[in-house]
Amino acid sequence: MVLNQPLHFRALNLEELKRYLKSLDVPAYRASQILHWLHKQHAAELSEMKNLPPSLRDRLAREGKASVLQLVEVPKSGDQGSLKYLMKTEDGHLLETVLIVQSGRRTVCVSTQLGCRIRCSFCASGKGQFVRHLTAGEIVEQVSVICRHQKDSVTNVVFMGIGEPLDNYEATMKALEILMAEWGFGLGGRRITVSTSGVTPKIEEFVHDSRGRVRLSVSLHSSDQELRSRLVPIGKKYRLDELMRSLEHLKKTLKREITFEYTLIKGVNDSEKEARGVAKLAARLNAKVNLIPYNPIREMNFERPNSDELDRFRKLLEAKHIRVTVRQTAGRDIDAACGQLRLDRM
Ligand code: SF4
Repeated sequence: MVLNQPLHFRALNLEELKRYLKSLDVPAYRASQILHWLHKQHAAELSEMKNLPPSLRDRLAREGKASVLQLVEVPKSGDQGSLKYLMKTEDGHLLETVLIVQSGRRTVCVSTQLGCRIRCSFCASGKGQFVRHLTAGEIVEQVSVICRHQKDSVTNVVFMGIGEPLDNYEATMKALEILMAEWGFGLGGRRITVSTSGVTPKIEEFVHDSRGRVRLSVSLHSSDQELRSRLVPIGKKYRLDELMRSLEHLKKTLKREITFEYTLIKGVNDSEKEARGVAKLAARLNAKVNLIPYNPIREMNFERPNSDELDRFRKLLEAKHIRVTVRQTAGRDIDAACGQLRLDRM
């Protein structure tokens, strides 16, 4: 709890809120009521919490806030499957969140940082300046902003927006607590995925702290150490062979299968040799491979593979008995490439 700033009630867990209310001589049961309004009803304002006495609502409003994000823009997309949300933080920075509606699932892709220090060579998020980490409250509020706008709940949350979640470890873990708790969003761990570029020591900490309950997705992008570290610069520090050894070890603790994210870039990492290498790594972990055809961003020269090239790569993996999914990068017409919309509006 940061005491010299107005409280953001969404960032508190049940115990912290009870403790705070106790300091105001307010009975503990009010904590559950407040959290219900925040994470189940997605209330934007304390004034909406009708079962709280007006005097308590006034008191809370003097000391803290229910919301810190402002919805700025939801660009229209011809793609019915996805919607991009542009939001503004209280200190005036923009962040992106995406809603993907597919096969009966309503998945929110949250951002965890304003900018990203990993600077993958193909990603728009790594191009702009790194500003700061998002707080746990700002991470979970992205989900509530979308629920409110859609007047509907969500079924899944993926930490795959702007930022490296494990580079903002504490806030990510607190956001997971809020998303999974009964008093929070009540989402099971199998409905949440944390995606990482491969910060090996943090992955170990994360699997341990989350007791393997949350899905883990690792950005692979190449099976070759040299090429991978050109695409994902952190691969120089945390080498592929160490990452693989660590994942093999963690597999015992993980209750869910590991996914490799693989952004397929024409002429860069789409060769037959690469497919063989990826299949070998995936087989070692019994991992699934999620192929993402590269979504061109204006600042880069990389190209998107056509559907035949994508199909060829997928079939090469499947021939080695690897489970493959293909993520159709939704909403190209609304700059759905990770971080592109934010970059443009800035
Ligand atoms: S792909 Fe992910 S880790 Fe890499 S720069 Fe973009 S947001 Fe950061």
